[in-house]
Amino acid sequence: MKDIILTGDRPTGRLHLGHYVGSLKNRVIMQNEGNYDRMYIMIADSQALTDNFDDPGKIRENLIEVALDYLSVGLDPEKVTFFVQSQVSELTELTFYFLNLVTLSRLERNPTVKSEIKLRDFETSLPAGFLIYPVSQAADILLFDANIVPVGEDQEPMLEQAREIARSFNHIYGETFVEPKAVLPEAKIARRMPGIDGGAKMSKSLGNAIYLADDKKTVKKKVMSMYTDPDHINIEDPGKVEGNIVFTYLDVFSKPEHFKEFLPEYENLEALKDHYRRGGLGDVKVKKFLIKVLEDELEPIRKRRAEYEKDLEKVFKILEEGTAKAREAGRSKVEEVKKAMGINYFEDEKLVKSLQEKYK
Ligand code: ATP
Ligand code: MG
Repeated sequence: MKDIILTGDRPTGRLHLGHYVGSLKNRVIMQNEGNYDRMYIMIADSQALTDNFDDPGKIRENLIEVALDYLSVGLDPEKVTFFVQSQVSELTELTFYFLNLVTLSRLERNPTVKSEIKLRDFETSLPAGFLIYPVSQAADILLFDANIVPVGEDQEPMLEQAREIARSFNHIYGETFVEPKAVLPEAKIARRMPGIDGGAKMSKSLGNAIYLADDKKTVKKKVMSMYTDPDHINIEDPGKVEGNIVFTYLDVFSKPEHFKEFLPEYENLEALKDHYRRGGLGDVKVKKFLIKVLEDELEPIRKRRAEYEKDLEKVFKILEEGTAKAREAGRSKVEEVKKAMGINYFEDEKLVKSLQEKYK
């Protein structure tokens, strides 16, 4: 059997460079290699509601933004099934059964959820739906028999939980689910891109992101405000490259040809770093180079987005058709699940007969 690939994103904002290097790029590569049975990409609106339940307008608005971002990076509806989580009710059904296989203490141990609870000030008043979202995420993956999940590093604990749930279900009710695995980007830094403030990971919810749809002026402004080495005050001062976000971004995005084209006085990134370390190289020059490097990547994405922005009806149609396909696959898997659990009462012809035996 070939692979079934599934990923998703929460429609809590437009997608950013962290998503791009952490997951979207891998998805496009996999799509173009075509070495899979099915590839699903889900807009996780129900999951987004678990910490945005009081602001459904935000989710509604960003659904289309995320879809536009997908199309703009080159994901192709001919090759990929895009769908909307809330419209596949089989996901909710499966989540409910899975909840029996997970303990409260196991949920509380998930390190990603733990840090998200802190970030969202949920410590004193934690919505139950938020705590259990990894279980619903396990359902997202397992309902479609996905074995490959291309994600950033923060999702590894979710995959671990999904595998545990699959194992536990198979053990109790019989072999029904495959155990999925996370596929992380090769470059370590791309697995958790830091935000422009140099702090935590770049995240829609933290306001430290460069968005794929940002215009040229905004990208420039954001790069110019980027965190560098706070001790590098005068140009002559020796500077630190480690932890300097401008260099982190260059590590991820710059290619040898960028030097030839935009900064020919340096042979490569190592030469630029050496100069910065020695002193005599100003932040502004490095930042201006980074802007050009980013523009090289972002400009084609922006152009493609602009085309789709003119025809939102078409974008909605893509989501609607994909969702119908996903629902069909989900329905047949839930039937299999119910059969395994022995709760397929009306499809099981032998059931009434065997129960009737008791009363003869
Ligand atoms: P939110 O703040 O709403 O949680 P987010 O920015 O974390 O948003 P998600 O929709 O939760 O984005 O994540 C979608 C995918 O992108 C996941 O696979 C996640 O691992 C990946 N991802 C998100 N942020 C980064 C990042 N900074 N670096 C690498 N991958 C990332
Ligand atoms: Mg997230």
